[in-house]
Amino acid sequence: MGEIKTSMKLKEVMKNYFHRLDNSNLVAWCTSVGPAEILRSFGFEVYFPENHGALLGATKTAEDNINHAVKIGYSPHVCSYTTADIGSSLSGNTPLKQHYGMKGIPKPDIIAYNTNQCREVQDWFMFYAKQFNCPIVGIHSPRYLNDVSKEDITLVISEMKALVKECEIITNKKFDLDKFKNTVRLSKEATHLWQDVLKTAKHTPSPITFFDGVIQMGPIVVLRGTQEAKDYYQLLLDELNEKNKNNDAAVPNERVRIFWDGMPLWGRLRKLSDIFKDSRAAIVASTYCNSWIFNEFDENEPFESTALAYTKIFINRSEQVKTQMLLDWVKEYKVDGLIFHDTKTCFNNSNAKFGLPQRIQEQYKIPTLVIEGDLCDMRLFSEGQSITKIETFIEQIEELKMSVNGKA
Ligand code: SF4
Repeated sequence: MGEIKTSMKLKEVMKNYFHRLDNSNLVAWCTSVGPAEILRSFGFEVYFPENHGALLGATKTAEDNINHAVKIGYSPHVCSYTTADIGSSLSGNTPLKQHYGMKGIPKPDIIAYNTNQCREVQDWFMFYAKQFNCPIVGIHSPRYLNDVSKEDITLVISEMKALVKECEIITNKKFDLDKFKNTVRLSKEATHLWQDVLKTAKHTPSPITFFDGVIQMGPIVVLRGTQEAKDYYQLLLDELNEKNKNNDAAVPNERVRIFWDGMPLWGRLRKLSDIFKDSRAAIVASTYCNSWIFNEFDENEPFESTALAYTKIFINRSEQVKTQMLLDWVKEYKVDGLIFHDTKTCFNNSNAKFGLPQRIQEQYKIPTLVIEGDLCDMRLFSEGQSITKIETFIEQIEELKMSVNGKA
């Protein structure tokens, strides 16, 4: 019960991806919701430093590496993906060697970033542009949008085209529109399958939780635009649909359904997964896993649709839009309560800093809880206190449900 067998295949898919990176003579670095499709259409293997940041967090090697970055002047209060990753490049300690047998972090031929998620990526990637004396191209997306206007998209497209020019110079190849279209199509198909995977959690009991999702999202982050990502999610979807037919629950005797906003605590995934399981609560949806759903991809309009897909993401929207998106997910996944992770070193992916959880609770009568922690730096997580808060929150939801059902 609960185990996802397709995960064996995931290990192979990720291993092959890192093996190719290790042996490629054409490597691009890109932000996780950046223009990977353009880079891939030129034949670059694409490396994502954020994925490395997550790996540093999950392997509990982030803190030591953060200390190296702090020593050269990076504040311990800025994004711990940034500081852990920069520290790792300074120390030469990377789990990529041990976990994937790589020689080290692959050297970039070009670095591309998109500020649709935060401006920190610009500072982060600039560090490497200097270190490797490597060309860098930024897409400076308009931020915190209520509506996404034509002007916003025109601006993003013009910056995407500047990236195309730089890729032509580096590869000495002409841009191939058909290859780009094909890459966008593959991204579209993979992201649709990833969305279907996440939607299997609409079933009660859910066959998958947030803790599975953050592992299973590997290919949609690092292999968008490839057949491999598509094939993997088809396999995963088939298994989860089968689980739903058999009511095979990720959390046995699921009693409470939770939505998670914000980053994962990479260094405490197992611990938190066990806490929720023991409390018979399933985290059935999250802003984080939904961040790699791009409904707008359309190979017939590859620039326009890619610009729109990457500009419309949750993290880049106004509070008004975010609130509506959260309410829609609550309804869609039959959620009983929301947990907001106030991620100490990521201002951008934390929606608990300006009273949103309290407003949602008061206006929409949906229970909310804020816990304080971090994506990589577990020194910022008060574990005992947070676990007590989580357990109490789940008990309160159960009591609330019982009293409502009792009255009905
Ligand atoms: S969104 Fe947050 S975690 Fe991600 S790179 Fe930006 S600051 Fe770091």
